[in-house]
Parts: sequence; C-alpha cells; structure tokens
Amino acid sequence: MKWRGRRSSSNVNRRGSAGGGFGGGSRGGGGFPIPMGGGIGGIIIALILFFVFGGGGLGEGNQQPAPGPTHENGTEYNQVQSQEEQDELNEFLGVVLADTENYWHEIFNERGMEYVEPSLTTYIDTVQSGCGLASSQMGPFYCPADETIYIDVSFYRDLKNEYEASGDFALAYVLAHEVGHHVQKQLGILDEVYGLQSQLPEAEFNQYMVRLELQADYLAGVFAHYTQKNGYLEQGDFQEAMNAAAGVGDDRIQEKAWGRVVPDKFTHGTSEQRMTWFERGFEYGDLENGDTFNVQNI
Ligand SMILES: [Zn+2]
Repeated sequence: MKWRGRRSSSNVNRRGSAGGGFGGGSRGGGGFPIPMGGGIGGIIIALILFFVFGGGGLGEGNQQPAPGPTHENGTEYNQVQSQEEQDELNEFLGVVLADTENYWHEIFNERGMEYVEPSLTTYIDTVQSGCGLASSQMGPFYCPADETIYIDVSFYRDLKNEYEASGDFALAYVLAHEVGHHVQKQLGILDEVYGLQSQLPEAEFNQYMVRLELQADYLAGVFAHYTQKNGYLEQGDFQEAMNAAAGVGDDRIQEKAWGRVVPDKFTHGTSEQRMTWFERGFEYGDLENGDTFNVQNI
C-alpha cells in the first residue's frame, strides 16, 4: 500500500508496556471487546466473554475479563520490535486510520449521516480498555464502550507467523475490519445484535455473531475498494488482505487449536466466507450490498 508521507490520523494513542503509567482510567460499562477472531487468543477471549455474560449480562460495568495468561516466556514479548519498527508501525496504522476516516465520512455524508471517528490505541503486552483489561493474546479488538480499537504492536508479527498473512495490507485489512465494527455501532447494528444475546441459545446467537463479523469483513472490503479508487493499492495488496481473511477463519483456527472443526462454535465465519465477503465489499464499495443479515446462505 502506498502510505508513506500521507496524512496520519490524530486519533491514535500509544501506550507503553504494562505499568507504563496509564493505570486507573474509568471502566465504562456496557461494552465488551470484539476481537478480530483468531488464534488461541480468540478462543481464550471467547471463554472470557462467556464468563462475563454468565456473570449477569452486558451491563456489568465492574466485571472485567480475567487477565490473559502471563508471559512466562517473557523474552518473546520483550523482544517485540525495535523502537524504529514500532514507530513505523504506528505511522502506518495512523495513515490507514486516516484513510478510513476519509472514506467513511464520504460514505456517511452521501447518505445524509454524520460519521463519528473512532480512536485507535496501540499498546505493548496489556492495556486497560473501556471493556476491561486486555492483553496481546486477544488480538486486535474494538471496544464499543469507548469506541476505540486496540492493537498490540506485536500483532503484525503474529499475522505473519501464526496466520500466514504477511504484508502491510494484511494489517490494513485487520484495522479496517475493526473500523467496520465501529461503523456497525454507528449504524445501530452492533447494539441490535448484542440485544439478542440474552434471548437466544448460544449456538443460535453465534450465527448472528458470524453475520456481524462477515459484515465487518465486507466493510473492510469497502475500505479496500476506496484505497484502490484513490490509487493507493499496490500489486499484491488485495491478495495480502485475502490471505489475512482466510487466516482468521474459524475453521482454520479451530483446526489448528483443537484439531477439529465445531461449526456451532463459529463466531466469525469460515476462511471461505470471510474471503467472500471481503471480496464482495471490494467489488461494490457501498453499504447496500453488505447486508449479511438478510442473505439466506452466507
Ligand atoms: Zn470482528
């Protein structure tokens, strides 16, 4: 992706490692993090979320997810990246976020709506979010309570090593997907789906979660559509995003983690579905063709 020298969003906050002086902050109620899906982290957070729900529903402001596993093999996490690499990563994410702001303002304005920009917090190891304490194990997520996307700076490396998705546009897809959740919040879709959580059995609710996630993939595709339209897409970028979408598919992740696939536990969609919806968003570049909730076969 052509990103150097372009506008970087002013909505990016950087947090240091745990204990870096950002403690405290108020813990907003009513939200829970929406992870990218994936990896062992994704499965762990699924359990954590179950715990949070089991403890009395979405409104439990004081209840926070249990901290992720401590990094006993600390060196792995301490050797994340050099300062230079971190700076570059933050710069890149800032430019991608700025692009999403431009595109979503345009798309919302065309429909007579106002787009409120989300924030992005990059961190190392752990961070206190409006949805509770988060760790890098969770992968990137969007917290509706503070309308902020959280990305651990080590995730770019994880993408390559764990999800077999390298390249800058793989990461752009991930951020655009999380911004997609913010767009869903702006449109009222997120609240509507969460409202079903207490009314439906888990397996049935999971089907709505899958549609929600596939829609975020579609919206990431819309971002890619605009990126191309503006001449910022480079050779290989589209494929990088497709590889990332495939890499975070439920079937592939379950197969890796559990050695088998359990469709009732799908919350994000299969690799195939995630690629399909991303590609569809890329093709149409609008909101109208992304209604994953009213499609018989996703
Ligand atoms: Zn998601």
